[in-house]
Amino acid sequence: MTLRQANPTPGGEGDAAHYTDPMLAMANYQLDLAAKHLGFDQGMLDWLRTPERVLEVAVPVKMDDGSLHTYTGYRVQHSTARGPAKGGIRYHPNVTKEEVVALATLMTWKCSVVGLPFGGGKGGIAVDVRALSRAELERLTRRYAFMISPIVGSRRDIPAPDVDTDGQIMAWFDDTVTMIRGEADPAVVTGKPLDLGGSLGRGEATSRGMAHCTEFAAGRLGIDLSKATLAVQGYGKVGRFYAEIMYNDYHSKVVAVSDISGAYFCGDGLDINAVSAYAKQHNGGLAGLTDAMSGVEFISNEALLALDVDVLAPAALEGQITARTAGDVKAKLVVEGANGPTTIEGNTILNDRGIVAVPDILANAGGVTVSYFEWVQGLQFDRWDLATVDRRLLNVMKESFDNVWDVAQQHKLGLREAAFLVAVDRVAESMTVRGLFP
Ligand code: GLU
Repeated sequence: MTLRQANPTPGGEGDAAHYTDPMLAMANYQLDLAAKHLGFDQGMLDWLRTPERVLEVAVPVKMDDGSLHTYTGYRVQHSTARGPAKGGIRYHPNVTKEEVVALATLMTWKCSVVGLPFGGGKGGIAVDVRALSRAELERLTRRYAFMISPIVGSRRDIPAPDVDTDGQIMAWFDDTVTMIRGEADPAVVTGKPLDLGGSLGRGEATSRGMAHCTEFAAGRLGIDLSKATLAVQGYGKVGRFYAEIMYNDYHSKVVAVSDISGAYFCGDGLDINAVSAYAKQHNGGLAGLTDAMSGVEFISNEALLALDVDVLAPAALEGQITARTAGDVKAKLVVEGANGPTTIEGNTILNDRGIVAVPDILANAGGVTVSYFEWVQGLQFDRWDLATVDRRLLNVMKESFDNVWDVAQQHKLGLREAAFLVAVDRVAESMTVRGLFP
């Protein structure tokens, strides 16, 4: 840890009340704490907090019925101090500029805490993909890719999937940039399909990284995962693969899963392979699971958060563990698969109650770590086998987790505060050593 400045003066602009987006409030509250710990002055704090570039674009789309609809899209580069900006693209009705800034900011700290040579970025379009046909989705993606292409590139800013975007969308994105530039750039996006230079292991990487963090934290807390009970909130790609890995590889008892339709509980443990097969047959959704499987009970999403389990994994959207819900959490360990699932107040309550939470920027960093592997393979026109990807992912997660755990012990901090301390210190170090241009 390096102490760069005396006379810390955090607060001010960074006060939580200043932000309307709770995730941005949380990210900057944690930055303030870290900056205070590191002794940064207000000038350094402002530089660390302010996104480098915020691009807002119009995305007009000709709909299948001939009408025209104009969506609003964003691409935010929070920091490029440690390398090109890196982060996903989210398609969701709740996307706002502030939310994308928050997510880009979290990417900076995420890439830093696991030691990747990337800064942080994020993109998004306020859209409900369920209301679009495949052809409309393709036109939306291609127009958005065109609109943000001036700031994107394998050495500038590298998008990837996020909520409601996938390999197909990355393929359209890649193809659009390739057409515009007239040359292949196999590292311009990650999370691509395998046939387009995607990496083996990328699809389940976020969940595998979460599983590693669960194992490391369980080891420290004396939880035997083969006897442990788990509740998983969210059954998108991250939650589903996580539940499958914990069930099949660690033989844990997953007692509850959920999606937008509600939560599904079975005290004896769910047959996760059967649940996943059901979801696959039902367009990815879990609605109707209680009728299809005996012994499965429907509960609310809030009841899932309050279950008496060993491990709770919020792997859906932000803002789940809050002032209202955190007091009811009974899990010993929380592993954050989603970005920003815990608010400032929720985090304080978890800390006060001695519940260990592996924070999003560490727990879900497996995805961007394998994105980094994909980027390296793309730059070198190389292919790695799955064993190499998995081994290297394990090494990154282990080293990062152990480092954050040790910093937490050493400074008597929660894991989130320790993770931010490590991440912010590294970014500030890169900024300091680069100096200020011009
Ligand atoms: N969207 C993922 C995240 O939030 C992955 C980002 C990436 O691979 O660049 O970490």
